[in-house]
Amino acid sequence: MTKEVDVVIIGAGPAGMTAAVYAARANLKTVLLDRGIYGGQMNNTADIDNYPGFVEVQGPELGEKMYQTVQNAGASYEYGDVQAVKLEGDYKRVITDSEEYLAPAVIIATGSEHKHLNVPGEEIYSGHGVSYCAVCDAAFFRDEDVTVIGGGDSAIQEGLYLAQSAKSVTVVHRRDQLRAKPELQEKAFKHPKIKFVWNALTEEIIGEDGKVSGIRYKDKVSGEEKEFATKGVFIYVGVLPVTKALDGLDILDENGWIPTDELMRTRQEGIFAAGDVRPKDLRQVTTAVGEGSVAGQEAYNYLQAKGFLK
Ligand code: NAP
Repeated sequence: MTKEVDVVIIGAGPAGMTAAVYAARANLKTVLLDRGIYGGQMNNTADIDNYPGFVEVQGPELGEKMYQTVQNAGASYEYGDVQAVKLEGDYKRVITDSEEYLAPAVIIATGSEHKHLNVPGEEIYSGHGVSYCAVCDAAFFRDEDVTVIGGGDSAIQEGLYLAQSAKSVTVVHRRDQLRAKPELQEKAFKHPKIKFVWNALTEEIIGEDGKVSGIRYKDKVSGEEKEFATKGVFIYVGVLPVTKALDGLDILDENGWIPTDELMRTRQEGIFAAGDVRPKDLRQVTTAVGEGSVAGQEAYNYLQAKGFLK
């Protein structure tokens, strides 16, 4: 049976949850869908120290607090892995693996997911030494030598997190300069347990007895092939949009992100996008929350202007 609501919000990270708060408080019948647990990427983030109001807060704890705000606002949070969104005149049909929803407005806040390196060994040792989540897996590598691949904010932030419990953290980066923000770089350069391998193109994650045992890489400067031993490989080489289910809608750019105007309106009337799923430089909880509030409010304005609200 199709559920009819005013707005369906897809994705319960900080953008989706904030959109749900604003939509529900504007008295819209609001459904917030997620294919996992609410919180999004915050669940994979140890400490958040740049969200004003909290001097320092654990990612999952901030997610929990946002969810309480969603509940207080009166939005309905439901499980749903969205398979497709289809246009039906002025309405949008959101099809999940278990339900169908019909709504005149949809807000997409599906975020982004970790890019893979696509080198031999990555897939077979995933969960056996290869990880994309330091917060989830650091405890398995207490007092071991671990490696982080990447040079952005995630690689350095999670490298610092790992350094609290690992014996050593080696950051393998493909250039001789980090992309991470200066304050993170400074902390990492000063950390006694963190060292760097520069200009290194990872070519293989090596294993022994079904577990990661090392890394083979090419030194871009000398052209030499080199190897070193490591027990854990944490891969942080960027992010990709989570928009596969939206292929049928004409709202994606050439790389799969969803461009919007400053009111979070996509190319398709009545469809809004907020948070990490938009093409942008600053993917933060703060920006996601700001965009979520605009999207929630604009969904209301749209429904009001089009006469959907009686
Ligand atoms: P990112 O900023 O895109 O950085 C990806 C890193 O991986 C870059 O250093 C890149 O190298 C490297 N890389 C990409 N493809 C590679 C490949 N095939 N092989 C080896 N290395 C590769 O991604 P991110 O660090 O996941 O961050 C994503 C977004 O979240 C960013 O907007 C970031 O600012 C934000 N974020 C913020 C915080 C914070 O504020 N504390 C924390 C985490 C994330 P190059 O530098 O050579 O391109």
